[in-house]
Amino acid sequence: GFTLAIVGRPNVGKSTLFNRLLEQRKAIVDDVSGVTRDRQYGISDWNGKNFNVIDTGGFVHGSEDVFEKEIAKQVMIAVEEADAIVFMVDAGTGITHLDEEMANVLRKSIKPVFLTVNKVDNNDRMLDATEFYSMGFEQVYFIASASGSGTGELLDAVADLIPEEKKDEEGKDELPKFAIIGQPNVGKSSLLNALVGQERTIVSDIAGTTRDTIHTHYNLFQKEFTLIDTAGIRRKARVHEDLEFYSVIRAIKAVDEADVCLLLIDAEKGITAQDLNIFSLAARKGKGVLLLVNKWDLVAKETNTARDYENELKKRLAPFSDVPVVFISALEKTRIFKAMETALEVYENRSRKVPTSKLNDVMLKAVQAHHAPVVRGHAIKIKFVTQLPTVVPSFAFFCNFPDDIKTPYRNYLENQLRKNFDLSGVPVRLYFRKK
Ligand code: GDP
Repeated sequence: GFTLAIVGRPNVGKSTLFNRLLEQRKAIVDDVSGVTRDRQYGISDWNGKNFNVIDTGGFVHGSEDVFEKEIAKQVMIAVEEADAIVFMVDAGTGITHLDEEMANVLRKSIKPVFLTVNKVDNNDRMLDATEFYSMGFEQVYFIASASGSGTGELLDAVADLIPEEKKDEEGKDELPKFAIIGQPNVGKSSLLNALVGQERTIVSDIAGTTRDTIHTHYNLFQKEFTLIDTAGIRRKARVHEDLEFYSVIRAIKAVDEADVCLLLIDAEKGITAQDLNIFSLAARKGKGVLLLVNKWDLVAKETNTARDYENELKKRLAPFSDVPVVFISALEKTRIFKAMETALEVYENRSRKVPTSKLNDVMLKAVQAHHAPVVRGHAIKIKFVTQLPTVVPSFAFFCNFPDDIKTPYRNYLENQLRKNFDLSGVPVRLYFRKK
């Protein structure tokens, strides 16, 4: 996936632009590591191009000195990890010392940098803003992110950098791709070592040339697949050391590359806000998901411990709770093959194409059993259902008033699909269309 980072000193208006970029304004706020600052990441869909957006944050505690170091770190991370950078400055304040410092780093970057002058709200500001041309960036955009003026042009330019997605080719002639994701120390390396049977730690000291994910070919039950992991990668500390943030960015990339995500959580800690962020990211990207509760060996067990644990877990995953859960111990190698078997099942579920006749048989019965509520005096009639030829299972329901089908009824239909066709671990999409 293409990743855009927004950098700039605090209060230049990064988060306003960020919010504009996001699909349904659903920011994922990474507040777990955020003692020093808030970071946000999300998915944008501009001109039909999907890309990740990271707001590298800006609020930093501490003295002026610490502050500048933090900002420098932000910029370094953006340059190393992102595919393009929006460098935001403020027309109201003009070029500040900190802007200059950041520009010095960014000018050396080979990645595209869009110098974006924000708060250009009126003509006077526009005249002042021309001073920013002196910073020596080829691409300069003037925007007022609060009102949105100028942002369209900027985003068009960003979207132009992104190659067209080859949607139909995903998954074809290729091995299933499974990403092993989870927070630091949850046991990703241990699981990989248990599966692959060798110690694997890769240290890279050349910034920007490292692979963000490692792909390992694997063969199990006569099935072949590729494991994608980020566990072994440790970048040598250089200017900065921000492993927490790296781990988030890597997880996003691993999710992008995968068909199915194996999300590890720590049995003792339970599912954290950060885990849920990654979970919902994977679901929104239409990836298959299963949960592996690792370090299960450390949990004192009674008769129903696993069942109760699973029930609690699923409550947290709602509304997408039709997700397999496997209790494992990477250390003791318990149920790790069961985990891989389940991942393969999720892959099968995600690839499932339900024959149209069977789909209509089942779903039209479900509609008969429970009709959509009457809206504005109209009876809503669903006449025909078909699965679309997409990678993520998507179903089109043809009906007379597609806009009048509301969430509860949509959820009813999704549940019926899940009950009748095994879609465990798979996010599904429902579309309502006029015939
Ligand atoms: P990673 O950062 O996600 O790759 O985590 P590691 O694989 O490095 O594991 C972090 C720590 O947790 C190590 O000390 C492991 O030995 C320990 N660990 C991993 N899996 C298990 C497990 O299933 N049970 C127990 N008791 N410890 C584990």
